[in-house]
Amino acid sequence: MLHGPGDLRVEHVDEPEGEVLVTIEVATACATDLKSLRHGHMMLDPYPTRFGHETVGVRDDTNERVLVGDSVACGTCARCATGRGQLCEAMTWVVGGFAERIAAPAAALHRVPDGLDPAGAAMAEPLAAAVHAVARSGAQPGVDAAVLGGGTMGLMLARLLLLEGCEVTLVDRHPERLAQAQALGARAVPQLGRHELVLEAVGRPEAWRAAIGAALPGATVVLVGGCPTGCEVTLPAAPLHYAELDVRGAFHHSPAEVDRALELLASGAVDWRALAGERIGLQQLAEALVRPPTGEARKLVVDPRL
Ligand SMILES: [Zn+2]
Ligand SMILES: [Zn+2]
Repeated sequence: MLHGPGDLRVEHVDEPEGEVLVTIEVATACATDLKSLRHGHMMLDPYPTRFGHETVGVRDDTNERVLVGDSVACGTCARCATGRGQLCEAMTWVVGGFAERIAAPAAALHRVPDGLDPAGAAMAEPLAAAVHAVARSGAQPGVDAAVLGGGTMGLMLARLLLLEGCEVTLVDRHPERLAQAQALGARAVPQLGRHELVLEAVGRPEAWRAAIGAALPGATVVLVGGCPTGCEVTLPAAPLHYAELDVRGAFHHSPAEVDRALELLASGAVDWRALAGERIGLQQLAEALVRPPTGEARKLVVDPRL
């Protein structure tokens, strides 16, 4: 339970209440969870609150293994009516993966394909956001695409762009992450060149500026990394206007994109093992989340049974 900024406690709480109870096998962690720990998050309830949103477990009622999707769009608001449920004005967030049990609306649940490991299936949540970002990018075969940032999201984006047939360059300062990108099949460099398509996966103002600076005239730039809440970013006006840059945000995903991500992980088209890191129990979570990232980009795998 999060009791306030930085105040994470492992404690016995009441059984969660909701439509379907799921006994959790694993929940993977991401930068959103670190943000949630430090500052709270718009998808969380008031303190004290559960968190963790990349969750896989077994349904109590049917014994089926499911990914617990982290949101259910209302289906009726103006945004939902235009087919953009990820922008739903009345979203129900489903969080609480860092626990032994979670309660979820049935509409949030996705069946995990047979043979896919729970830790791999949990990564369908962030991978679905990457699937959505690549769809927003309009990537076409043969396009010269760059990914700025070699964290797990950047690596997922690079892999998906390769599957679309793009020429992919990943940019990061850490040699270990460049080696991971190369292993996926991307070109990996420490410094940005200029490209027809640029996907930003860092979430800092200087990275947003760098992404604009790396765009060739007429390019598309997709901002995937979320900057801190309340952040303002100054961008150069000239390329936005004279170079007709197409700058787009990408946020979240649809249920169909979650299912697509599960298929990509189950088929091996995206190798989740290359992105899986240390397996920890709930007791280690607070310490592991705030550990400074070094070396390879890998996701924490939280197993409440440890
Ligand atoms: Zn996440
Ligand atoms: Zn809606």
